[in-house]
Order: sequence, then structure tokens, then C-alpha cells
Amino acid sequence: MSSAPITASLLYDLAQCPRRVELDMFRDPTEREPISAFVEMLWRRGAAWEAEVLADAGADILDLSGLAPDVREARTLEAMQAGAPLIYGGRITAGDRVGVPDLLRRTGDGYLPIDIKSGRGEEGGGDEGDGKPKLHYAVQLALYVDVLQTLGFGAGLRGAIWDVRGEEVDYLLDAPRGARNPSTLWDAYLELLAQARDIVARRTVTRPAANAGCKLCHWRGVCTRELEAAGDLTLIPTLGRALRDEVSATIPNLTALASADLTPFITESRTVFRGVGAERLRLFQLRARLLCDPSARPLLRVPVDLPTPRVDLFFDIEVDPLRDFTYLHGVLVRRGGDNSAETFHAFYADEVSPKGERDAFAQAYACLRAEPDAVIWYYSKYERTLYRKLQKAYPDVCSPDDIERLFDPARAVDLYNDVVTRATEWPTHDHSIKTLAKYLGFRWRDTDPSGAASIEWFDRWTRERDPAIRQRIVDYNEDDCRATRVLLDGIRQLAPPADTAA
Ligand code: SF4
Repeated sequence: MSSAPITASLLYDLAQCPRRVELDMFRDPTEREPISAFVEMLWRRGAAWEAEVLADAGADILDLSGLAPDVREARTLEAMQAGAPLIYGGRITAGDRVGVPDLLRRTGDGYLPIDIKSGRGEEGGGDEGDGKPKLHYAVQLALYVDVLQTLGFGAGLRGAIWDVRGEEVDYLLDAPRGARNPSTLWDAYLELLAQARDIVARRTVTRPAANAGCKLCHWRGVCTRELEAAGDLTLIPTLGRALRDEVSATIPNLTALASADLTPFITESRTVFRGVGAERLRLFQLRARLLCDPSARPLLRVPVDLPTPRVDLFFDIEVDPLRDFTYLHGVLVRRGGDNSAETFHAFYADEVSPKGERDAFAQAYACLRAEPDAVIWYYSKYERTLYRKLQKAYPDVCSPDDIERLFDPARAVDLYNDVVTRATEWPTHDHSIKTLAKYLGFRWRDTDPSGAASIEWFDRWTRERDPAIRQRIVDYNEDDCRATRVLLDGIRQLAPPADTAA
């Protein structure tokens, strides 16, 4: 038996980063970074949402949440034996597995585990529930199912999420994960369970891997130092953990990749490494060379044809994904390429309601439409996706065709997907607007500029209505728009493409 229990939250973390599980368990906690205000806000809102859902769930619910763990476990078992219809905060164990599902609902002779989440029940897809189950939610439910089956209260390989939209999302754990992926979420659970047991028993040692979750992780200081000292391959933009693990036995780090002769690894368009073709491997080598060379400069891989309009509109929006609420649209207007005369327009939803969101959207849309000859510059597909969604929610503002015209590639450029990713290379670890604009010398006025921080400020502003917080949000958005302008001008200065192949 393992030395520490395998819990649902451990599997949740493991699905996102194995290193985190090992560090949480064995590393000196004083080495952790402070928990960010954003993460604390997520916890607070998660607890508030759970309380709200329970209040609506009615009286026919057995609440065991306040009891001591062993009492709770005994009472859960009794309640299931007695056939209680709905149990909140129960505790179930089997061997090394411990589960505390938010809810257990009687289904036939067994119990269906349900978790209450303050996020959406699925990822990807649109509003019509056509997304996919989240692995980190699924493995939690799978652990409960596993324990329930062992205890004789199974109700099949399924669970459910009660999500932030108030919907119950079914998790069918034995269904194929995709048309071309016959493996199931249950398979993934069994794999992660085995990996968790190896970690808690110290039969395996994990490695950090730079990933999107690091920014909010309390081990980011420890891991960043380790990654940099090792010259880890995941410091290369878009080279992730799986590929690093595949390649690193042969090419261990950045320096080795930068200087490697790739010929023995490449046959036509393929390589000996699973999951990477010849073209991508050469691209990663180019990125490794840029990172290893202190005098490296960003470059154009292929020519880009950037329009030079009379008016530039740099556009950025701020969205609270938990509220599903767009609270700010920022537009920086530059005429004739003159930075000294640029003007910034903020359209802020002062009322946190559909009316407030609609009015801010309508004003921003009018502003963007008012300059028919302008080019709109934005960073990532998000703005266009959100505008399509806002149009659906508020069809009196404009039509679907109006949105398509607004984002017509002839007058709107997604600088990230159409230019940075397609045509440029940078001596940086990622291609976020923050990283690239900072590389070019731009500085945000705020000491903690990030989308996550903005959401936390907005949450605070909804409760405190402090004008200083509102201004902080607007200033941050203005700086994001200005950073987009700095990046565009920086890209215009890049040297023309040279032969950079290995
Ligand atoms: S900082 Fe990144 S690599 Fe390290 S534990 Fe956290 S998520 Fe994992």
C-alpha cells in the first residue's frame, strides 16, 4: 500500500502536472511562492458557488460536510446503506483511495458521484454543450466511481458535473475520447492512478516542464530555476512535456539541440521522434539557437505583407470567464502612424448585468465601425470569438454579417496567429504579448500586469466599487493595446528572412 492516500485533488493536479504532485508532497513548503490573489479569488468564488447551488438544491439533502473525517466516512456508508437520495460532503475510501465527492446521488442500487464546479463542465466547443469532458474533472469522478464500485455502491462508469451555467454535464467514463481515439477517460484514470502511486511511493522522479499552468503555480520559482539550470527543452515555445520526454534521451537540452546535426534523425518529412516531423524539429532547433545566443535578434522566417493604413485601431477586451461577462473593450486609435497623437477609448460595463455588457459592446462596436478605412489589430482569435458570442447574445447591436465584416482579414489582423506564429521567431520562451512587447522595451504601468490579475481586480471592483480599481483595470487594458502597437512596429523593423535552416 502507498504511504500517502490517493485523493481526487491529487489526481486533478497530476492531470495537469506530475511535478506539482511530487513537490507538494515532498518539497519544503517554505520554498513555495505566495498564492496569487487570482487563485484565492477562484477558491472564494468556488466556495460561494457551491453554497449557492446547495441552497437551491432543496431540503432533501443529507449534509455531512461539517463532520470529522472518520465520522463522516461512517455516516456516508450508513446513509448509502439506508438509500439516502442525495448526500453532500460524504467521504468514501477503499485501500489507498480516498474520495470526498461534493454529492452522491442514489441511482438504482448504487450512487452517482457529482462535483460542483465554478467553471464550465466541458472545454472547447461553443455554448451548445458540444465541448469535450475535462480530463482533470474526469479523473476525480473516476476515483469516486472506483471507490464506490469497491464498496458495492457502483452505478456504472459515469459521474456528473454541476457547472457554472447551472447545467448537469454527464461524464461517460467508458466512452471513446474521440473519433480517432478509442481510449477512454477510464483508461486515463487507471494510468494516472498508477503514476500517482509511483510518485507517492517515490518509485519515480518527476521533472518540471514549462507549461501554461506554471504562471499561477506556487512552485514556479523552484521550477523556473531548475528548468533554466538544465537548459530544459520545454523552454522552447510550443515544445511540451511529452515531446521533451521523447527527445531528451537523445538530445538532452537547449545547447545540445542548438548544435546538433539533425541529419541522422530525419528521413524526408519524418523524424525518429514520435510526435514531431522534420519541419517542426528544424523549427525547434532554430528556436534553441536563438535562446542560446545572447546576441540573437528576432527574425522573419517568411515575408509578411502588413497593411499600412491611415488609421490603426489596436483592440483588446477583458472578460471574466467565471461570470461569462465581458467587462471592458479598449481601442487605441493611431492616425498617420503618429504615436504622439494616439487616443485611447475604454468601453467599460459599469453595470454588471446583461444591459451593462450590451451597452459596452454596442459602444465599442460603434467605435470600431466609425473608421471604415482603419485596420484593426488584435492578439489571438479570442476577440473575434467573443464578438461572435456577444452578437448572438445582443442581436439588436449588429448582425452576424456585421461581425464577419468587422473581422474581415482585409481589415482586421490577428497579429498572433497571422503574423507572429506564422512568420516570426524570437529569442524568448513564449510568444505572449507580454513577453514580446517587454522584449521590445515596452513596460506596463502596473506592477502585476496579467489577464488573471485584471479578472481579480474586476471581481474586487464589483464588491467595492472603488474608482481606483476601475482605473487600474482600464490602464492595464490601455497598456495591452499599446503593447500591441509596439509589437506591430517592432515586427515592421525585423530583418528580412534569411536561410535559417539547419
Ligand atoms: S511550476 Fe510548472 S512545472 Fe513546476 S510544478 Fe508548477 S506547473 Fe509543474
